[in-house]
Amino acid sequence: MKNLNAFKSLISKPAAVVIVTHFKPDADALGSSLGLAAFLKKSGHQVSVITPSDYPDFLTWMPGNETVLALSKENPAPEAQAAALIAQAEIIFCLDFSSLSRINSLGDMIRKTTATKVLIDHHLEPESFASYEQWDPASASTAGLIFELIEELGLQDQIDATIATCLYAGLMTDTGSFKHNNTRHREFEIASALVSRGANPHDIAQQIYDTNSLERLRLTGFVLSEKLVVLPEYRTAYMTLSQDELKKFGAQTGDTEGLVNYGLSIKGVKMAVLMYDRKEEIKLSFRSLGNFSVNELARKHFEGGGHKNASGGQSKLSLDETLKKLLRILPEYQQQLNQD
Ligand code: 5GP
Ligand code: MN
Repeated sequence: MKNLNAFKSLISKPAAVVIVTHFKPDADALGSSLGLAAFLKKSGHQVSVITPSDYPDFLTWMPGNETVLALSKENPAPEAQAAALIAQAEIIFCLDFSSLSRINSLGDMIRKTTATKVLIDHHLEPESFASYEQWDPASASTAGLIFELIEELGLQDQIDATIATCLYAGLMTDTGSFKHNNTRHREFEIASALVSRGANPHDIAQQIYDTNSLERLRLTGFVLSEKLVVLPEYRTAYMTLSQDELKKFGAQTGDTEGLVNYGLSIKGVKMAVLMYDRKEEIKLSFRSLGNFSVNELARKHFEGGGHKNASGGQSKLSLDETLKKLLRILPEYQQQLNQD
């Protein structure tokens, strides 16, 4: 962090702190939030974690989960509570996202407050709205950036098993269990430090990866056998899921997570796309290999972004129309997709 000394003095006395993360938080978003919350609570801060939506069941085991204020369509009551917490906050941490538009109504509340804002994130092209930034797009995870910030503060000894567990969960998932091309030597160093402070790799992997419902596995089977389409001329694989299909398998938040990676596991495929109907909009997930930037594609055509090889976006068109749009723009990228 550039202004580390000022940041040190900012957090040197107990304050009212709010931590927010992105819509439909993943393990990095939630793990970073709960890890940082546990760390700040140790020095006497009053900390609230707010998520702009619900999140998957396979994340609810995380220590501190019971304290999270999750907004949802079904239960709008916490919104007033969130507004009050944000209005009273002295410091607001924004984790694992870099654009206030990604947190829905919370974004406007945060824009209006005079609280000091701190951004900790690893996505490309951040909006600049924070006075303090721990931002590094080369870092595989926000959880790793929180570890590095704690290290910069010289407070590594404060990391206990709770903090280490939350941070390790984010690091593990954002590196695809240490196999995506964002996994540097540094990620292993951080993982090693977290394990030495009490994170248990096996337990965390089990809680996240081996707690499937039968319905979720059946949905995966259905997508792989019926919905996965490969377009060899574009080295692209795509899958769509309608509301009816999701309902048929009783899909819950998070059940589609990871599906897109199966597309990318096909030999020769350079880009995989998952499109599914989230009712309010069509959600798109993009993954790519090598130099092909799905961040650019998602930003240009689907109001999204993320990382070079993993991005998301949305579309207000119908599912069919969204697919047609994707098929229409593919020729623009044909040459790039067929390089190397
Ligand atoms: P996923 O496909 O798993 O939802 O997201 C892949 C990556 O892109 C994640 O790092 C996620 O935070 C980011 N991402 C997903 N949706 C959006 C979006 O709408 N806008 C931006 N800027 N990033 C997104
Ligand atoms: Mn992340």
